[in-house]
Amino acid sequence: MNEVTDNAPAQAASSDSPKRDQSFAKNLFFGEILEENLFPYPAMRERDREMLTAMVDAIDHFLGDKHADFKHWDRDAHQPAEFIQALRDMGLFGLIIPEQFGGLELSNAAYARVLGQTSSHDSSVSLTIGAHSSIGMKGVLLFGSTDQKSRYLPKLASGEMIAAFCLTESGAGSDAASVRTKASRNADGSWTLSGEKIWITNGGIADLYTVFAKTDTPEGKMTGFIVEAKWPGVSHGPHEDKMGIRASSTTTVAFADVRVPPENVLGEVGKGFKVAMAILNNGRTGLGGGAVGGMKALIRLATAQAKERKQFGQAIAEFGLVREKIAQMTIDCFAAESAVWMVAHYIDSGCEDYSVEAAMSKVFASDAIQRAAHEALQIAAGNGFMREFPYEQVTRDSRILSIFEGTNEILRLYIALSGLKDVGNTLTGLKSAFGNIFNDPIKGFGVLSSYAGRRVRETTGYGTDKILRELHPTLRKAAESYEKYVVELSKSADALLRKHGKKVADQQYQQKRIADLGIDMFVGLCTLSRADSLVKANHADAESAVKIAEVFTKQARRRMSRNVRGLTRNEDAQIDSLAGVILQKGYFPWDVI
Ligand SMILES: Cc1cc2nc3c(=O)[nH]c(=O)nc-3n(C[C@H](O)[C@H](O)[C@H](O)COP(=O)(O)OP(=O)(O)OC[C@H]3O[C@@H](n4cnc5c(N)ncnc54)[C@H](O)[C@@H]3O)c2cc1C
Repeated sequence: MNEVTDNAPAQAASSDSPKRDQSFAKNLFFGEILEENLFPYPAMRERDREMLTAMVDAIDHFLGDKHADFKHWDRDAHQPAEFIQALRDMGLFGLIIPEQFGGLELSNAAYARVLGQTSSHDSSVSLTIGAHSSIGMKGVLLFGSTDQKSRYLPKLASGEMIAAFCLTESGAGSDAASVRTKASRNADGSWTLSGEKIWITNGGIADLYTVFAKTDTPEGKMTGFIVEAKWPGVSHGPHEDKMGIRASSTTTVAFADVRVPPENVLGEVGKGFKVAMAILNNGRTGLGGGAVGGMKALIRLATAQAKERKQFGQAIAEFGLVREKIAQMTIDCFAAESAVWMVAHYIDSGCEDYSVEAAMSKVFASDAIQRAAHEALQIAAGNGFMREFPYEQVTRDSRILSIFEGTNEILRLYIALSGLKDVGNTLTGLKSAFGNIFNDPIKGFGVLSSYAGRRVRETTGYGTDKILRELHPTLRKAAESYEKYVVELSKSADALLRKHGKKVADQQYQQKRIADLGIDMFVGLCTLSRADSLVKANHADAESAVKIAEVFTKQARRRMSRNVRGLTRNEDAQIDSLAGVILQKGYFPWDVI
């Protein structure tokens, strides 16, 4: 049966839409579960469903018989030009570009699903088309002027131009704001761009680069530029010899006094950092979709292997320790897909603030596929270790997902600090509201009453029975865990801010716990919502989906409990001091001889 139909929630597309001016994830830090942004679980738009059905079949048909080639290209670290031409011919460079410019105009949700399908065959293929759409040309789509769109989008849609995103430099990785590539404004309004970017996906095959450079202009410190590869002074280095996604092009890209016309500034002068972050936030569902597709392929491989391989007179699929791995991979895949798809829906619905949810889904999905690759390889054991089988390549390929488009460490810090910042702002608001009570009692009362409501719920738990009221009764018990821990998250955010104030920014151990609490809650609630929609639609596999939601919740509850406890009882000081000792020595100082 076709996977698109099989996997999509069977309910009709809902007329309900999320609150666009609210972030579901940030509300969790206030102890609120925004039901409007959780129920009903989003359904694929009819237009997308129809296109996907055809595309998924075409992708399988085209890539399905190339597995030997992918292996070969992985070893040679190369993707032949004829293959890239075939990707162009299939329209895979125009996936999210509007129809008026010659693209397929897929929604974010459908785009994530396409990358899932290509990733189930080969990650390097997904990288080539994903780096183009998710980040390479996304700036033109999101921030391009009318002129830039009409000049570039038709060529980007056809693949006549392939795009790459150039932010990272040797001295500017996670600290992207510290780029040294420089652009100086000339008297005629044009810019002179010089510097070098490293590890640029599609660097060696791109015709158009979205480049971020330091512009010490009165308007601000960083600006985005659209730069054509054919312009004088633009060059790229050799193909990097990588651990994974080896066939996909990764190179340095250098700019030696490149003249960039004023009409190729992307967005506003001085707003480049915001432009870069918006592109990365918007692109995260592509990465998440790819991870989900990879996991589905691993589940198929692992189940086949477990049923075929016989030891001790029976299929290894009969053994508990093998079955446990298969079940956990399935739970992780369902949970990751539920979160990624929800984030795509927020973007497609025009939500203004989804960056925290996007980060949560990226962290969860990228961690989950690495666990899945590890376990699938373990089920195949010796075979898994052999290059003849696909497991080792998936293990190598998936490793990049927690490194690029924001490392998972940086994204965890971002999740925690974004949530804490908003809570911190209300605490400040509360202070000034106290002053306002005397000058402007009505205004002061408004702030205090919403804050007071939250405090009552935090301290007494009163009111929690009102949330998640739309849920099917079968899932009621699971819901209670999130209703409990959303209050714990809010209390914890409040307590951390009261204890550390602004210095909470230095508390990385605590931030990680807060981020993980938020991730478990967001992913768990998406899982619950998806299971709920499948039950209500009488989906053939609804019972298993409910089981997944229940097990995920029990596992998440244990993690959430550990994280809340860890906020006050932990060995952070000893860990930190031990790291200090070893860092100072620079080696492991014990030996048995
Ligand atoms: C194959 C590949 C493809 C890539 N494609 C692109 C691309 O197309 N375009 C592009 O612009 N870039 C690209 N990158 C770059 C990628 O985005 C960066 O590697 C990534 O942002 C991390 O930077 P870094 O490797 O310099 O690590 P660093 O920033 O040096 O980080 C090293 C370690 O320290 C941790 N760390 C850093 N700062 C903190 C902190 N404040 N608190 C706690 N921990 C911290 C990190 O999480 C990490 O574990 C690519 C990289 C690779 C490997």
